[in-house]
Amino acid sequence: MFIKCPKCQTIYQIGDDVITKDGLKMHCQKCDAVFKAFPGDAVKSPQEQEQEKQNVAKMFEQVIPSASELFGPQNTPPVRVMHVTKYKNTINYLLILALLLLVGVLVYALRYDVVRYAPRMEKFYQKFGVESVYDGTALEFSNLKISEESLNSLSKLKISGIIKNPSGYTVNVPPIRIVVYDANQHQLLNTTHYLAAKRMGAYYQLGFEFLLTNPTPQQKTIQITFANNE
Ligand SMILES: [Zn+2]
Repeated sequence: MFIKCPKCQTIYQIGDDVITKDGLKMHCQKCDAVFKAFPGDAVKSPQEQEQEKQNVAKMFEQVIPSASELFGPQNTPPVRVMHVTKYKNTINYLLILALLLLVGVLVYALRYDVVRYAPRMEKFYQKFGVESVYDGTALEFSNLKISEESLNSLSKLKISGIIKNPSGYTVNVPPIRIVVYDANQHQLLNTTHYLAAKRMGAYYQLGFEFLLTNPTPQQKTIQITFANNE
């Protein structure tokens, strides 16, 4: 079929099956115009147009011998053949699809690094239900101190320490589980403490301090762990 550039009137010949009802984006190689061609935009070939003109001229010539001069010299515009095929379009779509897929795979594979440098991206990953922050399994306790304090004549157990993130990634801060046993290994207390900070940056340290009430004066064993997955 033949499509005419709306700007410079250059006629392009393209395959009949290339233009769908959704149209085909075309780029005029002569004047750089970009336009969308639809099946209904098809024009007659320059040869056909010229033939029609000649037919009309012949009709007039039967009446007026010099009528053909009225129709001017033959100036059939050159036809450019544009090699557009559906196959090429499919290749382009496949390339774009492959590129999008590659970007998707990278965005997924590098999610921990992405969130490390752009914490706001965590919301993006959450939309897709993808965990982009490591859980706190890499966290470590250090400088743990346990002391008994008397406050307002009430004995309290003070537990303080530092939580270190030795990993190069932002991690979730899990709650801290504190279990107190007496000398006979009976559980006296089992509490879970949530820290104000929900995230810890790479190589960060975080100090904490808890005051527990009701400790007994007996010899005690205190177990401090991260309460992951709870
Ligand atoms: Zn043009």
